[in-house]
Amino acid sequence: MLLKEISYVRPHSIDEAVALLNSYPEAGILAGGQSLINVLKMRIGAYSTLVDISALEELKQIRDSAEFISIGAATTYDDIIHSPVVMVSRPILAETAFRIADQQVRNRGTIGGNCCYNDPTCHFPPLLTAMGATMQVYGSDGMREMSAEEFFVGYYQTALASGQILAGIRIPKPKRPYGDAFVPLSVGGTDVLNAVTVTAHVELDEPGTLTAVRVVATGVAPQPLRMTSVEDFVHGQTGQFSDLAGAVATFDMSSLEPPSDVHASGLYRRRMVPVLARRALKMALEQVRRGYRE
Ligand SMILES: Cc1cc2nc3c(=O)[nH]c(=O)nc-3n(C[C@H](O)[C@H](O)[C@H](O)COP(=O)(O)OP(=O)(O)OC[C@H]3O[C@@H](n4cnc5c(N)ncnc54)[C@H](O)[C@@H]3O)c2cc1C
Repeated sequence: MLLKEISYVRPHSIDEAVALLNSYPEAGILAGGQSLINVLKMRIGAYSTLVDISALEELKQIRDSAEFISIGAATTYDDIIHSPVVMVSRPILAETAFRIADQQVRNRGTIGGNCCYNDPTCHFPPLLTAMGATMQVYGSDGMREMSAEEFFVGYYQTALASGQILAGIRIPKPKRPYGDAFVPLSVGGTDVLNAVTVTAHVELDEPGTLTAVRVVATGVAPQPLRMTSVEDFVHGQTGQFSDLAGAVATFDMSSLEPPSDVHASGLYRRRMVPVLARRALKMALEQVRRGYRE
């Protein structure tokens, strides 16, 4: 289907982008366009004006500091894959970006667009939730920060208000050995459509016990779902912990009401969560024991 006629503006700064969003009543943000253009072509969404933020250098930086990596919202997957900062400090970001679709999509698609679209099959919302990321939201009243958990509120929904832009994402750099694992169940055996995912993060503290445990599932709830009973079970165990089945059994799968669609039934999704959770925890724990992510 052809795109309807639409106005297009290209601001020179994030302040100008916010001003344009507020001055055009039916304006929307265009980043990589890899989801939005399809949405507009299919007439699922309608904007009269697109404010293109994809060339704003201030939103395309990857910055390193002692505590965090900061990634601008308009940074493409390809830039993340080739960033030495990412590869040294949180390689899971590059590994996950590399799993998204194909090179054409990775050349244009942005981490901010992935988060703001917040399709339940998207790779970054669960990963950033498991990493304890902070989302930086910019509007006419300046910058505001919120956790990834606060940001991802439901299917295709975020906490962004009208006239606000996701400016960047701050990801903590663990100071101790850690492990990160992203395990998708994808339709057709590729990562293109994740029916269910589980992401795990663990750290090992000085006495040799597991801490900062985060286990996050998608495809089974409107937002990335923290499996807190599993996290509590693993927290405080030694680095040699291996009772993955016991940990995962603490989570009440019957409380989940996953959707059924052409890709997977709700029942299948619910049954796959424990399988993927065990795999993700196993991978993250193996990394911690090897000191791989140290
Ligand atoms: C063939 C194909 C396969 C794909 N496979 C996958 C996959 O396996 N995994 C995956 O995760 N994704 C996949 N995608 C989606 C792709 O990752 C998109 O790039 C992503 O969903 C949106 O990013 P974008 O930069 O293209 O954003 P756009 O499409 O430009 O925008 C998406 C939405 O976010 C809003 N938005 C964008 N940036 C901001 C911002 N900074 N602040 C506020 N709002 C903003 C837009 O207004 C729009 O509503 C696929 C896409 C295609 C075409």
